[in-house]
Amino acid sequence: MAYDRIEVPESGSRIEVADEESGELDVPDDPIIPIIHGDGIGVDVGPAAQEVLSAAAEATGREINWMRVYAGESARERYGEDVNLPDETVEAIEEFTVAIKGPLTTPVGAGYRSLNVALRQTLDLYANVRPTYYIDGVPSPMKAPEEMDMVTFRENTEDVYAGIEWEAGTEGVQKAREFVEEMGFGESLHEGDIGIGVKPISEFGTKRLVRRAIDYALEYDRDSVTLVHKGNIMKFTEGAFRDWGLEVAEEEYGDEVITEDTLWEERDGEPPEDAVVVNDRIADNMLQQIQTRTDQYDVLAMPNLNGDYISDACGAQIGGLGIAPGANFGDARILAEPVHGSAPRYAGQDKVNPTAMILSGRIMLEELGWQDAADLIGEAIEAQIATKRVTYDIERQIEEGERIATSEFAEGVVEQIHELA
Ligand code: NAP
Repeated sequence: MAYDRIEVPESGSRIEVADEESGELDVPDDPIIPIIHGDGIGVDVGPAAQEVLSAAAEATGREINWMRVYAGESARERYGEDVNLPDETVEAIEEFTVAIKGPLTTPVGAGYRSLNVALRQTLDLYANVRPTYYIDGVPSPMKAPEEMDMVTFRENTEDVYAGIEWEAGTEGVQKAREFVEEMGFGESLHEGDIGIGVKPISEFGTKRLVRRAIDYALEYDRDSVTLVHKGNIMKFTEGAFRDWGLEVAEEEYGDEVITEDTLWEERDGEPPEDAVVVNDRIADNMLQQIQTRTDQYDVLAMPNLNGDYISDACGAQIGGLGIAPGANFGDARILAEPVHGSAPRYAGQDKVNPTAMILSGRIMLEELGWQDAADLIGEAIEAQIATKRVTYDIERQIEEGERIATSEFAEGVVEQIHELA
């Protein structure tokens, strides 16, 4: 396909979908991979991650052919003041199947809607997946941070991400109020100005997310999948998420998966060998459980808002946003991205930690089947942190550390890759 402002690299090949049903990819050794550097600190962490990922690919006999695509500030510069997410950016990510992005700024309260949400929805990237594991040497507020090894699966297309809401004082909110009153909930609304939002949670959206979480648990030999919800209060949305999730567990996996209820009713709490246990927890309880019983949880599947809070809280336990990686998955489509935002006050200062973006790229490499390159990155980051030459966020919390720039940290990781390869 011909693009207007995007330059497709002259060398390199496209990643193809080998099997639409299973989502299996056909990955060449020289893939073309689109990258959005991102707003704010994206200008620092984007190029840093690119450098490290390229080095890991080369060290394992491959080559990544990067293709810059644009969103946010970089799009406005190239396509015009009103263009935040050019159609061709979305088309390029669709065409090349696997991509990586840095953070994009979203104005609060007014202005354009979140570009991150738009990208995830347009590309139907329905699962936001965040592995949270401890890296040796990273300072943490916890006594035993190494107990944290959870993977959160956050639904990415509905709940608050549906973005259905009406502003106070508008015709839309008046209609919504009348509808709510007509349905018998008038007493729940205060008089005067009010904003009203709608929280949709569907059987389709829930089941495909929970399926993905269970498939992951089976593939990576995890013990449990916990459905995290607020079903005691919102029975027909959050509660339905739990019920539909348990239905998937009970009806689609045979002996491989067992629910916690069946486990206690029929097996006295003793799971069959290699089976994944599916249980559920109420979200507020879960927020304390991740701190007090960290080692008892494994894979978490959640509606959008719960997933947002809980994955950030998990990230805090292993050293904060500078470290926490993520990726968005659709059927046969991947867009890796760090958990953190664009941290505007550090933008362009070559200061912040690129680890989160690098490790997001690591998830991408794992999905390409490049496990050796992914492992190399993990080891190289650990080795670099062990030198205590680290970015400000880590340096300020350790003794006798040396504060270095984003680019220096990335160079350090590249050197470690060369030594380890
Ligand atoms: P943020 O950009 O994640 O930054 C919050 C704080 O986290 C920073 O002040 C910094 O803490 C720390 N931090 C974040 N990234 C770091 C890194 N790479 N290295 C070291 N420390 C890091 O959150 P925000 O300020 O709430 O959001 C800013 C903008 O980003 C908003 O427009 C928001 O909508 C957007 N956002 C985008 C995404 C996305 O693109 N996926 C995600 C979240 C937010 P200290 O100052 O304490 O060191």
